Amino acid sequence: MSEKLSFVNPTANSPWGTYLSQVDRVVPYLGPLARWVETLKRPKRALIVDVPIEMDDGTIAHFEGYRVQHNMSRGPGKGGVRFHPDVTLEEVMALSAWMTIKTAAVNLPYGGAKGGIRVDPKKLSLQELEKITRRYTSEIGIIIGPHTDIPAPDVNTNGQIMAWMMDTYSMNTGGTATGVVTGKPLHLGGSLGRVKATGRGVFVTGREAARRLGMDLRGARIAVQGFGNVGSVAAELFAEAGAKIVAVQDHTGTIVNTNGLDLSKLIPVANKEGVIAFKGGDVVPNEAFWDTACDILIPAALEGQITAERAQKTTAKLVLEGANGPTVPTADDILAERGVLVVPDVICNAGGVTVSYFEWVQDFSSFFWDEDEINVRLDRIMMNALNQIWDTADKHKISLRTATYAVACERILMARQERGLYP
Ligand code: NAD
Repeated sequence: MSEKLSFVNPTANSPWGTYLSQVDRVVPYLGPLARWVETLKRPKRALIVDVPIEMDDGTIAHFEGYRVQHNMSRGPGKGGVRFHPDVTLEEVMALSAWMTIKTAAVNLPYGGAKGGIRVDPKKLSLQELEKITRRYTSEIGIIIGPHTDIPAPDVNTNGQIMAWMMDTYSMNTGGTATGVVTGKPLHLGGSLGRVKATGRGVFVTGREAARRLGMDLRGARIAVQGFGNVGSVAAELFAEAGAKIVAVQDHTGTIVNTNGLDLSKLIPVANKEGVIAFKGGDVVPNEAFWDTACDILIPAALEGQITAERAQKTTAKLVLEGANGPTVPTADDILAERGVLVVPDVICNAGGVTVSYFEWVQDFSSFFWDEDEINVRLDRIMMNALNQIWDTADKHKISLRTATYAVACERILMARQERGLYP
């Protein structure tokens, strides 16, 4: 972390800097609400915790963990927990802020939060993973809760980790608080459709964007970076709609097949060993991923992947941001100049938090819906939000990203104004 880090002084090319410049771009469209905009440029609360655990070999290891609550004007904090060796406070600040924008963009009654631990979970045994999860949950337990801040899965976290988080919080508070996290296994108050929800949202928004562009999904060539929960599900749904997945990249490398990769065979291999273990495509250097001829590009891995240089060379006409913050602002401008349509993260990948919201509602009412009902409601919320954003973009002749921020920031700042400043 930079010594100079403060809420308003981002380090160069950081996700937090990207977020701040995205907020600056929306100010001209906020009217009188612009006087409140500074509230979006700093988190409400940021907690750094020490997470010590005893490793299997008897040594004591210390990890750094974070939980940031960016804004709670519209409701409790909501956002995932990331386990990754590159996690920093500044990254978590940006991810929490994008959750504030996202929950407002789809009009869920939440604010934005995010958490993470700087750790490579692939180097931990199952017991160590459980210990680090439980100790982290206990440390952030002073600020999370079913009515205050509700974590969920993100990169390298899953239903099992959510189950440990729910159990730890419940043990510490003396009940069974299923509503404290979402993305839980089904028999612990999880929701049908949650695992596939983010990828499904990427598909639903992408299908509508393609329709508006006059692009036929049948035969459309798609390149997907990141083949985990988000990337693989989105790829599957596009393939079912007749598209060809021509390139896939994950942390092990990149594979390409111009005739289309066979996903039914690729997914099990990718889940076990990574995509380069798959024999049905050519392994190419990672940078070649961005040169692959494609119509749709789906970044679904980490932040900052679409740089100015990569934006210049992609052949895609449509970018669907499955990941959070994959496009740096200079690249955003280049894509716009080149006529490439970007469906921004804060709407494109909002399917996950939308079904998380359904899960939370179901937990509170102790009444569970079937998968059809979930998917119908999800599609309706995503389409309503996208159409409203599209109208705003057309009205002001601005990008979908700035339009999403305009719609979302108006909701957040209106709530802020109506609540007034305490004391
Ligand atoms: P995941 O852990 O299931 O998968 C991440 C994928 O990215 C893996 O295939 C991994 O191999 C790949 N990856 C990691 N580092 C990489 C690198 N340097 N180059 C190329 N690939 C790399 O995570 P996920 O849940 O699919 O999340 C992916 C993105 O989507 C993140 O930006 C996350 O914040 C965002 N997101 C996730 C959800 C959700 O519900 N899971 C919701 C909204 C947004």
